Order: sequence, then C-alpha cells, then structure tokens
Amino acid sequence: MSIEQSLESNQLIEAIVAPGNYRSTATVNIDGGQFVAWTETSIPNDPSATPWLPPLTVTAMTQGHALSFNQPVDSAAYAGSLAAQEKLLEWYPDRLHNSEVKTTDTKVAEGAPGRGVGCFFSGGVDSFYTALKHLDSITHFIVIHGLDISLTNEPLWHETVGHIRMIASALGKELIEVKSNVRVLHAKFGPHWQDQAHGAFLAHVGLLLSPHLKAVYIPASDDKSRLKPLGTHPDLDPLWSSDEVSLIHDGVEASRVEKLEYLKSSDVAMKHLRVCWSNLSGMYNCGKCEKCVRTMIGLHIVRASDRCATLPSKISPRAVQSMYLRAGGSGGELMAEENMRALAARSQTDSPLYRALDRSLHRGRLANLAIKLKFYAIDVGFGLIRYRIRQRSTTSMSN
Ligand SMILES: [Zn+2]
Repeated sequence: MSIEQSLESNQLIEAIVAPGNYRSTATVNIDGGQFVAWTETSIPNDPSATPWLPPLTVTAMTQGHALSFNQPVDSAAYAGSLAAQEKLLEWYPDRLHNSEVKTTDTKVAEGAPGRGVGCFFSGGVDSFYTALKHLDSITHFIVIHGLDISLTNEPLWHETVGHIRMIASALGKELIEVKSNVRVLHAKFGPHWQDQAHGAFLAHVGLLLSPHLKAVYIPASDDKSRLKPLGTHPDLDPLWSSDEVSLIHDGVEASRVEKLEYLKSSDVAMKHLRVCWSNLSGMYNCGKCEKCVRTMIGLHIVRASDRCATLPSKISPRAVQSMYLRAGGSGGELMAEENMRALAARSQTDSPLYRALDRSLHRGRLANLAIKLKFYAIDVGFGLIRYRIRQRSTTSMSN
C-alpha cells in the first residue's frame, strides 16, 4: 500500500524509521511538527519498522489520524495491531479513534532458531513473581530506563540497574538494558499512559529484541479479580505479538499477597525488592509512599517483614491511616481492601493495622481533602524541589 495522496498532511502521522544497530529511531511527523522517538538496547535490535507499530498505533488512535510507515512491517504484527485497535476502541469508544495503518508492504518473518525467552524486570513484586515462576525457561531479563524512572533521574536509575544486574547475575540470566524516550512521545501527543500506552511501549521493546528473543513475558500488575481495561492486559498484550516474538501477559492468577507469599522464600527477592513509585525521593524504596506501605503490609501478612532488606520492617498504623490512596487512580484503595481481606482471613480484624486500613478507606470528605492537599503540597511539591536540587548538585559535580 502507498500513502494516499488525498490524505491531508494534518490527518496523518508519518513515521520514518531509520535502521540502527543498538538504536532504533522513528522520526514522527505529526500536526506540522516533528518528534524524534528513539530506543537504545544493550544488544543489537530489529532495525525494521515493526517494533514501532504498537506505540505509534496508540498515538495515532489518540490523535484520530492515519499512520504511515516508510518500511514494511511484520504481517502478524500488522494484523495484531488492527485487533488491538478493536479491543482499545471497545474499551475507550469516546477517547480513541480508529486509525488506518499504511505501510509500504507486509512481510512474514521467520525467527532465527536458538533464541531465548525474555521477561520485563523492574525488581518489583510482579516481575519477581513471573521471573521466579518461569525461572527455567527465561533466559533474559529486560530493564528499561524511561519506563517508571524518568530519563533525567540518573541517580535512581544507576542505583536500580545496579541492583538488577546483581539479581540477573544471582539468578543466572542475561540482562538487556534499554533506554527510550517513547514515554515522552506519549506524554506529548496523548495516549493515556496507564490506560492505553503502557503495554504498547513494552510491546515495542519486546519486538525490538526479536534477534535474541522468541517470547517475552509481561508481568501482570492486576490479578484476575481486579482486571479492567488497561494499557497492559491479558486480552491486549498478546495482540501486539509478531511472527517472531510472542508477548505473554503473565501472573493474573495470583493476588499481591499471594505473590509475596511466593517471593518470601527467595533470598534474592528479599534482598533486592523494589516497589517505590515516589521516584522524586531518589531512593530505591522510600518506605513511606502508598506503594511501599502496601507492600510492607503484605510482607507483614505473609510473615516476611524481617526478611526484606529494602523496606522497613515496622509499620506505623498512624502512617497507614493517613496514606493518600489515590495517587495512582483507584489502585491504592483496591490494594488496601485486598490487604484487609487477607488480614481478615487470618483472623486479624481487631489488629491496629486492620483498623488503620479501615480508617484510610472511610475518611470523611474534609479529612480526605486535607490528606490530598498534604500529599500534593508536601510529598510532591517539596519532593520536586529536593529532586531539582539533587539534580543540580549531580550536574555540577560531574562538570
Ligand atoms: Zn515509596
């Protein structure tokens, strides 16, 4: 197919993919402007346009534009991207639009024999669970700078990747390190990161690694009881697969507490677990944010508080009852409910921790507003100031 001449330029996202060995680049022409999206890998990657299909499809769907590539794409990935569009339109009929995808051609690729199996690995509960569950078949871990750690947060990235190199070495896996600005593209041109784009970005990286991997695990963030339309989902992730790489959403069968129960016997997991999303703190785990605290409660429930070296073992009920639960949407509330159910199943409904969780979920409107204001003014506001100061001092030290 060629690009239809009748299509006005402002209705089209044009992606010019430049082959590279360790760096794949897509120059994206959109609405009269240009954005150069790139992804670097620590080993040679697929130079074709195929890996750019998922992240640019969701971008084009947000803009309501057609999408054109200057190169052929894999036939299965092309068909899958159309099916992914259908699924996303079913979930978000008011927020996304159908996008026609135009390429110079499609091709059937045959993967080279002897390739391995990858697993996205951030050091968190979900990735440790999938990695340990499939330890025999997984050959590579994949860690991405630019996913949950921003490209400008170099200190946290270096600390995190240092831990993950040790984990990969301890578990006998090869580590593939990736750096990408695709999340910046998505932030600039829509789609919503959590709801629509997260999985497409992971698919992009998985497809890029086709010279080495025949399959890639995407660790599930939600168990089957909490499944809802989301950027990474068991009904969506496999649709982004190509002829060469199968993308596998893994781990929906286990709740977070069940995953921690599974992890607690792993010395490596208990030595390196990373869960914090308060990235501004610049710490591996801050031990204070909702995600750190929810994990500390989970570790308490499975009697492993003293086993985990990267989180405080003591939990303050006062800190629990004043947690801001909506920093990441409804996830904090759902996790508080899950922890309450797990405590109740262990006959701990009269424990201070259970009561504190109950209070955090049933605050009055004014108390909720005060906690929300404190979160944005102090945790985020002062966190941002400290982050900028730390960035400046790091820059001046390196100059
Ligand atoms: Zn934290």
